[in-house]
Amino acid sequence: MLINKLFDTAVVGGGVAGTSLLFTLAQYTNLKNLILFEKYDEVSELNSNPKANSQTLHVGDIESNYTYEKATTVKKNSSMVSNYIQNFDEVDKSGFRGDKMLLAVGEDEILQLKKRYEEFKVLYPYLELWDEEFLKEFEPKLLEGRSEPVLAMGARGQITTVNYKVLSESFVQKALDTNKNVQMRYNEEVTKIESDLDGYYKITTDTTTFRAKSVVVNAGAYSLLFAQSMGYGSEYAILPIGGSFFFTKEKLLNSKVYTMQNPKLPFAAIHADPDVTQNWNTRFGPTAFALPKLERYHTLHLKDLMSALNIDEDVTKVYMSLIKDKTIRRYILRNILEEMPMIGKKIFVKDARKVIPSLSEQDLTFAKGYGGMRPQVIDKKNQKLLLGEAKIEEGGLIFNMTPSPGATSSLAIALNDTLSICKTLGATFDSVAHDREIQSLIISR
Ligand SMILES: Cc1cc2nc3c(=O)[nH]c(=O)nc-3n(C[C@H](O)[C@H](O)[C@H](O)COP(=O)(O)OP(=O)(O)OC[C@H]3O[C@@H](n4cnc5c(N)ncnc54)[C@H](O)[C@@H]3O)c2cc1C
Repeated sequence: MLINKLFDTAVVGGGVAGTSLLFTLAQYTNLKNLILFEKYDEVSELNSNPKANSQTLHVGDIESNYTYEKATTVKKNSSMVSNYIQNFDEVDKSGFRGDKMLLAVGEDEILQLKKRYEEFKVLYPYLELWDEEFLKEFEPKLLEGRSEPVLAMGARGQITTVNYKVLSESFVQKALDTNKNVQMRYNEEVTKIESDLDGYYKITTDTTTFRAKSVVVNAGAYSLLFAQSMGYGSEYAILPIGGSFFFTKEKLLNSKVYTMQNPKLPFAAIHADPDVTQNWNTRFGPTAFALPKLERYHTLHLKDLMSALNIDEDVTKVYMSLIKDKTIRRYILRNILEEMPMIGKKIFVKDARKVIPSLSEQDLTFAKGYGGMRPQVIDKKNQKLLLGEAKIEEGGLIFNMTPSPGATSSLAIALNDTLSICKTLGATFDSVAHDREIQSLIISR
């Protein structure tokens, strides 16, 4: 038995972040002893589950909430996932090709879309503008019963949808297939991480104690709690934002349809997605509402929640600045009402009609058991809500918090962490193979 031996790296959390790191370490470094702890009996039971997230590979081409700079990074990050799928996995197993578009409704949005197209076509030369005539044939439901003019910017035959759970399983299998000592510890919850006297780390689980030279915690909101228990990251707090979905009773669209972002709103505008778990039936969402939970469909541990919220004067100021804005206030209220059993659908259908104008309340059902929790990070020092990923790094310890588009960025985050671990442990990284297999392919059409 190799248990309790000293591991090179211990990974806490078996979502897409933890498993992509396990794969990168096993495949491209000379580190020989790796261990991953997952508290549930399978990988990706929380946010990386296809029922929890929107299954989108965020390339930045149709997400109007991204600036050009953010889109450039997201494009690079997403290409690593699509390259993995094309090189190591099979297309249409974890990643699926399809069509996608950003839909502009009304003259103002059309103007903005045209401007965006001119700017972004440099980064995404495959993008096309689709007018009403084209859309009437291509996605007729977008036009039925519509009075306002529309224009879309879209792309065809791209990897648009990813089942991040299947992808996680593939990462684990590829790591196990190497000739390294890779241990998967399912049903094993890490309860404590401590520095050891020899400069290494002691990891205590509900059953045993392990030792590792480096530890990466990819445990969603719990990453911050582990960091704080070790004296790091007191400058951060978590605002847990729930996201729910609605299904249509039948498949109404073939493409992913994103809508134009209201720049005042902190979370992405709703979109319609063909759902991989529901035979490609149309799924609308996500909503966005503060929920006092760290895991959507599991027991709440109040102590963990209170630690994550980390409420003090600075955090309160961030909440107040969000509530002070009329547009955000309305948005928050609307999203809370959308969760209410009797009136939720009535309100949500009005938002969804931006995509399909002929949609009726009866066409929609609340997606029970679907939805997740985004651990949005609050930077207390700058009194700001951060909208992307956050990392705390200290010697051989890394703590990652990965709200959207964290699943898309998983291999990019894994690369950074791998390079950092290699530097700390004096290990080697096969950048030639990584470049060839993960980084260098262009997203193919
Ligand atoms: C509504 C919604 C829609 C989204 N849509 C998209 C999208 O379309 N595209 C995209 O790229 N991203 C999307 N995201 C974000 C994406 O889901 C996350 O960024 C990603 O899943 C995070 O992966 P992770 O591995 O960090 O976290 P998780 O998948 O939550 O994994 C954390 C793991 O750590 C384990 N764990 C926790 N504590 C312990 C412990 N003490 N010991 C052992 N194990 C532990 C958990 O069981 C879990 O398996 C969305 C998120 C939400 C909520």
